[in-house]
Amino acid sequence: MNMQANTGNLKQLDKSHHLHPFTDFKDYATNGGRVFSRAEHIYIYTGDGHKMLDGMSGLWCCNLGYSQQGIVDAVTEQMQQLPYYNNFFQCSNQPAIELASALVEVTPDSFNHVFFTNSGSEANDTNLRLVSRYYQLQGRPEKKLIISRKNAYHGSTIAAACLGGMGPMHEQTNGIDYVHHIEQPHWFEVGPDEDPDEFGLRVARLLEQKIDELGEANVAAFIAEPVQGAGGVIIPPDTYWPEIQRICNERDILLIADEVICGFGRTGEYWGSETYGIEPDLMTFAKAVTNGYQPLGGVMVGDKVADVLLSHEGEFAHGLTYSGHPAAAAAGLATLRILREGNIIADTAANIAPHFQARLRELEDHGIVGQVRGRGMFAAVELVRDKASREPLAAESAGALFCRNSANDLGLMVRQTGNAMIIAPPLICDKGEIDSLVDMLGQALDVTAKHYGV
Ligand code: PMP
Repeated sequence: MNMQANTGNLKQLDKSHHLHPFTDFKDYATNGGRVFSRAEHIYIYTGDGHKMLDGMSGLWCCNLGYSQQGIVDAVTEQMQQLPYYNNFFQCSNQPAIELASALVEVTPDSFNHVFFTNSGSEANDTNLRLVSRYYQLQGRPEKKLIISRKNAYHGSTIAAACLGGMGPMHEQTNGIDYVHHIEQPHWFEVGPDEDPDEFGLRVARLLEQKIDELGEANVAAFIAEPVQGAGGVIIPPDTYWPEIQRICNERDILLIADEVICGFGRTGEYWGSETYGIEPDLMTFAKAVTNGYQPLGGVMVGDKVADVLLSHEGEFAHGLTYSGHPAAAAAGLATLRILREGNIIADTAANIAPHFQARLRELEDHGIVGQVRGRGMFAAVELVRDKASREPLAAESAGALFCRNSANDLGLMVRQTGNAMIIAPPLICDKGEIDSLVDMLGQALDVTAKHYGV
């Protein structure tokens, strides 16, 4: 098919029939969007020929970019061999088995089991099922409250949306009553007048207060992303995670690390939990496990939970038709092989991430930049009208939206969250590509500053 010739028609069909996630349907039906037709290395191309550097790795998932033939071949071969079979009713398949054991090899020693899903949202739903089974089997069914954080993102199924702390998602969901939220460790927004380390301790201790308020006997688990991703790449102060860990160790609750964005190298190690010295009982993964080439997620189940689950009889009444789908598992295996054989995570952490972070920090001199924060291969750039007062550039995130659109027009795919620009490029970028990314972002900041007269 001649994509170029058909782009106009596709755009029209898209507007007429396709409801897009996290999109204003009315606006899209009128104005439409970009239709992508191909991708190569770290670049994405629209049908009408616009080339963009993908500064978001798709949706934080294509950590190895778009030209990984090894993954394509593995999926193709698997589709020819065994395109589908389920893992229910005492059945299994080779790629799912091999991926389970490969994941055990790249996770901390206390993780020896995995439950597969198709997405991060389903994996977090699975966490809730696992946690309640864990306590029920021990005769403690009253332990069912979950503590999460404001502005967290844990997915978009009803349970995952309620676990998350995004206001608009709660407003559009009939909530579940057993999830409670505490403040997030977002120093720039929540505690700018405090010393960052003291702020980190103070907000961590809110967990302890919440456990006391709800009653330790009723609280099942605390869930958190090592670094909040969708909420705005919120890098916690160094004091935060050790204090959270202390509280979880002292109190009788499980710790769930949602590694859907942090996992597979984004923070510099395989897991954000390693970067921050977190010892979770359960870890959620998805996205980069297949480099985004196939839908796959899951829960790494730590020994503390697995020992209880495996030592009791009775069926775990939970599962998905595509749990451990052979083609998705083959994509996961190939992705892990590439990461390991190429030593990509450690190489990127040593060579590219420091350059990426240093180049972005240069933007702190820009007149509309209030803060640059980041770790490993993701970062946020906060836009302000006034650096001292941290007044946002424009009301209702309009400044960051304008900046994002300007960057997109310049050929850079980045994202906006609140008043911040979000950047999470593929781990395989070289230094020159990082330079182009930062240069384009700088130009977008210039255009934005000019537009707002700052
Ligand atoms: N958890 C986190 C931390 C995420 O960032 C996301 C997706 N952005 C999810 C869960 C949900 O994953 P999915 O979209 O695959 O359901």
